[in-house]
Amino acid sequence: MPETDTQKKMTDATRMEGATDMDIRSMMPEEVLALVEGAGDKKFRAAQLFSWMHQKEAADYDEMTNLPKALRAKLAATYPLVHLTMVREQVSAIDGTRKYLFALPDGNVIESVWMQYHHGNSVCISSQVGCRMGCRFCASTVNGLVRSLRPSEMLEQVYRIDSRIRETEGPDGHVSNIVIMGSGEPMENYDSVVRFIRLISCPEGRNISQRNITVSTCGIVPGIRKLADEGLSVTLAISLHAPDDEKRKKLMPVANRYSIAEIMDACRYFFRKTGRRVTFEYALAEGQNNAAEDAASLASLLKGLNCHVNLIPVNPVRERTFVRPDRTAVLRFQKELEKYGINATIRREMGADIDGACGQLRNSYLNDSQESVE
Ligand code: SAH
Repeated sequence: MPETDTQKKMTDATRMEGATDMDIRSMMPEEVLALVEGAGDKKFRAAQLFSWMHQKEAADYDEMTNLPKALRAKLAATYPLVHLTMVREQVSAIDGTRKYLFALPDGNVIESVWMQYHHGNSVCISSQVGCRMGCRFCASTVNGLVRSLRPSEMLEQVYRIDSRIRETEGPDGHVSNIVIMGSGEPMENYDSVVRFIRLISCPEGRNISQRNITVSTCGIVPGIRKLADEGLSVTLAISLHAPDDEKRKKLMPVANRYSIAEIMDACRYFFRKTGRRVTFEYALAEGQNNAAEDAASLASLLKGLNCHVNLIPVNPVRERTFVRPDRTAVLRFQKELEKYGINATIRREMGADIDGACGQLRNSYLNDSQESVE
């Protein structure tokens, strides 16, 4: 919305000195401290403010009743608080999985998922609005990339879902695991993703263990190497989906940029630096990558690497033509891998009745709103 002259003058007068473009919910505790002290307020105000933003899920400065009114007014004029609005919630009748559609402050929509496992509750978050990676089986990439998300917009997906679930399910519903496997390529939004990880795991915030956070990438090699050097203890998941470069190029355009050999080298480096076992995701598509020879080549590729394979029977997407192999074919592929000593699990299908695959809910929402406009 364009600012009027009076609004602008008012904003300038109340704007805090040294203000940056970084939104305040995306700032680390020490950055919030510097800001509060810079404004002439006491140190303990920074801790109160941080807790309001990250532990108490304040949607607005008005809620921060223990902060002085003057500070709240200065903050409101300088740093609009990033907050997401829940647009839609779908609950699976099969397994209780919940899919959420959120509106960002600029009106774009993103989706996130809450899943219940025996080891805890996971939230799958988006790192971008749309995606430009172009994987042929994926719904998120159908309309390309709109923009990357801010750290606060990733945090808010977790906060909004966590409070919603606590409200409806009680404290047992709290989020313990996070997978950055929703729409978007995390390595293409690298700095914000790393900042998100540091914020969600910091003791002054939600304190979610980094070991319970997974970053999934389509194989952006420089990003994998950089992540290995961050000193984080997150899990790395690689969307491999094919055992050789030629087959992979047919499924994923990114395979033209980075070879499987380069990805494997980067994974070995990641393991050396972090000691964390790498996960390989392998979406099985009938006739594309599920033959016995594919399992054999995959096994020889992964031989000697401390890793785990996650088999995902491909989710048919409205805009895509890939076919999911039947249960027998999936089990056969898993057995074949095990024959070579490769540890593989089949991903349980969650929320099949609620637009399961990444990006599908957002696409159906966008299509619906287009249809209602026409
Ligand atoms: N860009 C990242 C993270 C988002 S995709 C990445 O590529 O890893 C999360 C996972 O879901 C990836 O393994 C992706 O390949 C997979 N995926 C996307 N669409 C799918 C579909 N229709 N069926 C099965 N898996 C799919």
